This record gives sequence, structure tokens and C-alpha cells, in this order.
Amino acid sequence: MSIMLSLNGKPPEIKTQWNVLNLGAGVQSSTLALMAACGEITPIPDFAIFADTQAEPKSVYDWLDWLERQLPFPVHRVTRGNMTDDMMQFRTAKDGRVWTKSTIPAFMKATDGSIGLLGRSCTADFKIAPILKNLRRLCKIKRGEKSVQITQWIGISYDEINRMKPSRDKWTQHRWPLIEKELRRHHCLEWMKSHGYPEPPRSACSYCPFHSNKEWRRLKDYEPEAFAEAVRVEKELQRTKALTDIMRSVPWLHKSCVPLDQVDLSNDKDAGQLDMFGNECEGLCGV
Ligand code: SF4
Repeated sequence: MSIMLSLNGKPPEIKTQWNVLNLGAGVQSSTLALMAACGEITPIPDFAIFADTQAEPKSVYDWLDWLERQLPFPVHRVTRGNMTDDMMQFRTAKDGRVWTKSTIPAFMKATDGSIGLLGRSCTADFKIAPILKNLRRLCKIKRGEKSVQITQWIGISYDEINRMKPSRDKWTQHRWPLIEKELRRHHCLEWMKSHGYPEPPRSACSYCPFHSNKEWRRLKDYEPEAFAEAVRVEKELQRTKALTDIMRSVPWLHKSCVPLDQVDLSNDKDAGQLDMFGNECEGLCGV
């Protein structure tokens, strides 16, 4: 219901006690936060919430520090822990076999040369779950609450309309203010510029396999520490998976299945990050 209302250019029908902005700290959600701060989107959110995988490049954390100082409402940073450490952790099944979680959407190359995408849990475990857990805590949501108490603002833009997903929990509903205003990503960048704000970074984990070649190049050229971390994580992920009893395919971060520091990143005709986020995510990564 709220999807249709938003597509019709209106906010959700149900007025709630809490308005909370889901802050990814990228272009769209940062623009949304500053628009709310300027009174261009109402009501003013009670707070923003940022789920930290502890795996974003430094530019995102620096940006978040700056953004927080511009906003008239608080930003709560929440985390489920260090995602990189979690995905390398060995687990033992009841039958004694050793396994690791399939956390990120790595490209998997099988022994016959075929390539698939690893099923993943990163967004669900390290973005959605800590946000919901902390919303319950911060807004004092009772166990078994059936009525809508919170409107969560999701910062996806009109060009990412396929990422709109309704809430699975009865006590919260989603709102997409940028879609209500039919604002695309480039409109957000224009709005930031016209208001004298700097350009926000792309927000995503340093080693996210959804990066486009352009984003990998940007990391390599301008954030070499984040790129080096991605190279390290790829090697570590391969070493870890090779030690498990159930994984025979090899994980890679780039779809060419070539070591990241040897990939030819000059081709821009790859599937873009936004395209892949669009198909896979609910609007909490890359916005
Ligand atoms: S940015 Fe990529 S790796 Fe990080 S949580 Fe989102 S989909 Fe997973």
C-alpha cells in the first residue's frame, strides 16, 4: 500500500510516532538528510541510523563525521561487529564438517570454469538486522507490537525504483522521499552542489563485489589503503574457503575472476555497481 502511495508522489498514509532516516552515508541518503535539515522534506526526522559493517573506506567515515555536524537531528551509529572478521570465522556443523558463512556476494569460479554469484547475508546481517534491533531499543517497541510505530525513510532515488521493498515487520513502514519527489541520483548531486555542499562519496564496503570498474579504479587511485584491504580480503577469503570441507569453488571479488590487483579496470562496460545493488539490495548499501 505504501509503495503505491509513494509512487503516486505522496508519503505513507499512516502517521507514526517516529520518523527515522536510514543513513547509508552515500549520495542519496546524505542528500535526503540534508534536504530534511533544510526543511525541504517534512517532518524533521527524530534521528538517523547508520549500520556500520566496519568495512567501509575511510572516505565514508570522514563524510559521516562531517555530515553529522550539519544535521539538526542525531545520528545513531550501530553495528553487529566487524563483518570482515565474521566472514573468515570457521564454524563446525553437527556432523563435524568445517564451514564459513557466505557473507558477501563473491563471484565463485568452479573447477569446470563456470562462474556464479555466492548467496550472501551481508545486507541482512550487518545492515538490516542491527538497524531493526536498535530501532526496537531506541523507540521502545514492545515485543509482538502489531501497529505501525516507525516510518523508516529509505534513501533510494527514482532511478533505483526497483529497490523499493515494503517492511517485513508490522511495527515499521518504509517511506521513499526521493522517489516521492522523482529525484534521480544526478538530481541529488545537483542539489548538493547548488546548496554549496561537497560531493558525498559512494558508500559501500571497500571489498564489495558489486563495485563497477569505475569504482574499483577510484579506490585504487584515491583510496589505496581501501584497495589494498580489498586485495588482502580476497586472498584471505580464498584461503579460508579452501580450508572448509564443503566449498570447492574459488571466491573472487571481480567478475573476471582474476586477482583484484591484476584486473584490467579500464573497461567501463561492466555491470555497474548501481545495477547490481538494484537487483540485489533493499536500499541500504550504496546510497
Ligand atoms: S556494500 Fe556490498 S559487501 Fe557491503 S553489505 Fe552491501 S552488498 Fe554486502
